[in-house]
Amino acid sequence: MNKNLVIKNVDSLEEIRLLVNNVCNYSCSFPETGIKWCHGDGICCGVSSIYKSASINDFLFLVGSLKKAFGIKKVKIGAMEPLLFAGITELISGLKNLGCAEVSLTTNGYFLQNQSKQLRESGLDTLTVSMHAFSENMYRKITRVDGFDRVKKSVEEASRLGFRKIKINRVLLNFDGLWDDLMTFFDWAVVNKITAVKLYQLIWSEGMKGEDYFKNYSPWQALSVFLRRNAYLKEIRRYKMAGRDRLIWELKNGLELETDVFYHKFDDKLPDLCRKCNLAPFCQEGLMSYGIEIGPELIVSGCLLRRKISLDLWDLVKKRDAEGLVKSLEAFIGKIRK
Ligand code: SF4
Ligand code: SF4
Repeated sequence: MNKNLVIKNVDSLEEIRLLVNNVCNYSCSFPETGIKWCHGDGICCGVSSIYKSASINDFLFLVGSLKKAFGIKKVKIGAMEPLLFAGITELISGLKNLGCAEVSLTTNGYFLQNQSKQLRESGLDTLTVSMHAFSENMYRKITRVDGFDRVKKSVEEASRLGFRKIKINRVLLNFDGLWDDLMTFFDWAVVNKITAVKLYQLIWSEGMKGEDYFKNYSPWQALSVFLRRNAYLKEIRRYKMAGRDRLIWELKNGLELETDVFYHKFDDKLPDLCRKCNLAPFCQEGLMSYGIEIGPELIVSGCLLRRKISLDLWDLVKKRDAEGLVKSLEAFIGKIRK
């Protein structure tokens, strides 16, 4: 037994995830077929947001109103691509002025060049960059953009700027040369003092062909022998409402790796909504798995697969009705977590 293993219960409702826009300059796809696998975070409920797109002040009002009532500890800025959101540094400094202890941002890194210094100066604590392959050729095949060198260089530069944490997200895709790609990637991450590499499983979506998903899916458990010999499990973060555990590994070379397990989708303690859900065997995220997630249309989404489990906060935010906002969100959460 690993005596040093730390197990932490995390309340995902203490985290807010702001999806600030629904546009991206990449089109993440399967390398061989070019079929898109990006599941479009920020594009909620199939509603066009051409006429509805929250402003910086809307997001600040929202976070300011919910912060005390929900004990928010962390604000995670995402989107499709948040560096395409005009005024991103203003939003970050506004969140820090509200007293948010940790503000993080996840980007594909293409526009990081020349921007990481301003992001740091605006108070950003954690910078997360997505890199789904570690060679120029495979990176281009996946993202459909020639951006590998500039993203890699931008991360290397950012690692010298004193962010509290720099993390890399990687969706595991199966392709020729994956093993060598991963090993080179891990070595680079150590040299550049990356705080952690987060490995994500490929999430399926309705539009995919079964064969495409089958061929491209690669579970992190394929690294089990490697992890047995080269790493130890140092922490488990338990997200009870989502039925998700995040495993934190430390490699012998000091690199931290994060992987997910979804083992208790049918647990008695999960909300009825999930236990009685026909999609539970196929569910790869869980209920409010990454916090109170709010898109550019100011819709809170509770579940990736059942988009109707959502709450529209647009009118309350626009009316600057803080009390109504808290009550409405409390009622929504109370209902879905029964
Ligand atoms: S960078 Fe992210 S948001 Fe953009 S296409 Fe790729 S997965 Fe989707
Ligand atoms: S699809 Fe949604 S409702 Fe169904 S198990 Fe997953 S999180 Fe729960």
